[in-house]
Amino acid sequence: MTQGVLAELPLRKDLARHLRAGHPWVFRRAVEKAPSRLAAGSIVDVTEEGRFVARGYYDPLSAISVRILTREPAEAIDAAFWRRRVARALALRRELVRGTTAYRLLHGEGDGLPGVIVDRYDRWAVLKLYSAGLTPHRPDIVEAVRAEAEGLSGIFGRDEVGREDEEEGQPAAGRVLWGGEPPERIAVDEHGMALFVDVRRGQKTGHFLDQRENRRMVRDLSRGRGLVLNLFGYTGGFSVAAALGGARRVETVDLDRDALLLARESFRLNGLDPEAHAFVAEDCFELLARERKEGRRYDLVVCDPPAFAKSQKAVEGALSGYASLNRAALGVLAPGGLLVTASCSARVSAEQFTDAVKEAAYKARVELSLVAETRQPADHPVSLQFREGRYLKCLVLRRG
Ligand code: SAH
Repeated sequence: MTQGVLAELPLRKDLARHLRAGHPWVFRRAVEKAPSRLAAGSIVDVTEEGRFVARGYYDPLSAISVRILTREPAEAIDAAFWRRRVARALALRRELVRGTTAYRLLHGEGDGLPGVIVDRYDRWAVLKLYSAGLTPHRPDIVEAVRAEAEGLSGIFGRDEVGREDEEEGQPAAGRVLWGGEPPERIAVDEHGMALFVDVRRGQKTGHFLDQRENRRMVRDLSRGRGLVLNLFGYTGGFSVAAALGGARRVETVDLDRDALLLARESFRLNGLDPEAHAFVAEDCFELLARERKEGRRYDLVVCDPPAFAKSQKAVEGALSGYASLNRAALGVLAPGGLLVTASCSARVSAEQFTDAVKEAAYKARVELSLVAETRQPADHPVSLQFREGRYLKCLVLRRG
């Protein structure tokens, strides 16, 4: 065995093919015999009939026992490995990400680093590890990011370990991993729009970077629009975009009061008066039901809810959830208005999501035409062998 490899895990028959093709996960049930007393983070080789298939790190707590790091039998998982992977991820960003000081620097599986997320906000990087098997490798990962990313002042850690189902609005605690303390609020620039990010108390790493290009699109679509409704608006990224784009009045709705306070600050940061807009701490479903009855109508509605399907079993429920939410959103959309609607559930395909919205339109008896359809941006890369990675879907529809 190569230096540093602590165990060999034989796979059940015929389960190696998808790993050889590039899929990065080995489920517990795919392993012939679960090893006893193998520590989280141990580097293991998965084998088939005694032959090497791939090398990864072990996680005894997760349904995914091994996440693959390399398919090269001679490649050791050491400090140089993490550095090579971070350098490769950075090269992609330099080539393809433009016009923003906030972007995803490491996107887990999509960058060959399963479970590792790093978001960059101006001079600050925020690390989130999604497996206990990464904890022993954290120093190497932090060092690789420090050494490869230019102009960083600090790396802040916001770990998910043991909290894979983080409740919305109840973030895990964070700490400085390298460099200085990040400020209470970091101001970032997304295509000429300024936004505040709270990397300590904000959800996930503080901001939802996957919607960056869609926010830019909403800015362009907002010219001459009267009323805009931003459902699940969090810190108001889509709201600031709409107001800067020319919308007269934007209503931001979210249950997270701290996020709404930050949204107000981001309006000010762009020279927009928050008093000319509305920030509503209310359940989106209740607000939609009430406003529909009151006859309130909007010229543009953004609908970007949290993931509805967190497991395969939950998919059916998620699809009817998307259908009823979008039906409610259509109930407050003025004729000629635009609906920008998204799904970030990895288990719901683009086709399934589109069908749910189609059903919503049918039930609401409105005619919709598809104006645009987008997926996640280039700093959230997806391996074609890993369809679970294609999680974000967004439709722009015009009501006839
Ligand atoms: N569109 C945002 C990200 C949305 S994340 C952006 O571009 O930044 C999903 C948000 O939905 C979270 O802020 C969460 O607090 C909020 N949320 C979840 N359930 C909700 C509900 N029932 N009503 C209102 N907000 C809700």
